[in-house]
Amino acid sequence: MYGFAIGDPINFADPFGNRACFQGSAADRFELQHHTEVATGTKFNVVQQNDGAHCAENVQTVGQSTRRSRGFTEIAQATNYTLWIAKVLGVGSAVRGTRLEYDPTSLTNSYLVGAGGQCVQGPSYQAGQIVAHELGHFYAMATVPLFTHQYAEAWEHEWSLANGQPLRPFWYSHGFGCNQHPTIP
Ligand SMILES: [Zn+2]
Repeated sequence: MYGFAIGDPINFADPFGNRACFQGSAADRFELQHHTEVATGTKFNVVQQNDGAHCAENVQTVGQSTRRSRGFTEIAQATNYTLWIAKVLGVGSAVRGTRLEYDPTSLTNSYLVGAGGQCVQGPSYQAGQIVAHELGHFYAMATVPLFTHQYAEAWEHEWSLANGQPLRPFWYSHGFGCNQHPTIP
């Protein structure tokens, strides 16, 4: 479900810099801002830039500082790349190039959780969980282009723990089974 596009070298260069930006209609951008705030434990303004892009400014941490709030603040303040966040339908949530594509059709699916060495049916995905996962991929790509799955799962698990959502087993989302627990960076 959570794909990750690994392919041609990615050009993170951004002539405008300093941005995490939202695409789509005004309603889509508002929804994506909300999901991103929930995913990262932040609040921010979305401000139209000189080139027309709608981008996060004045990122504030809500409550405790977390790897998600710190990481998203770093992404929004980076000067050497831009993260684009968009809503897509039916193709799955993933980071594709420098774009985080959030697919709300995933919300109707439930995921498996590990219990006693077995995989059992768990609850449905939540938007903040999905966006936290994909932001973890992007953060790893943009900062330490290694271990992106571990980062994605670390961001997701941190979100799930903070929001009372049962954990997906480490690595399960990438096909490694229900009871494997690699080291989280
Ligand atoms: Zn993933």
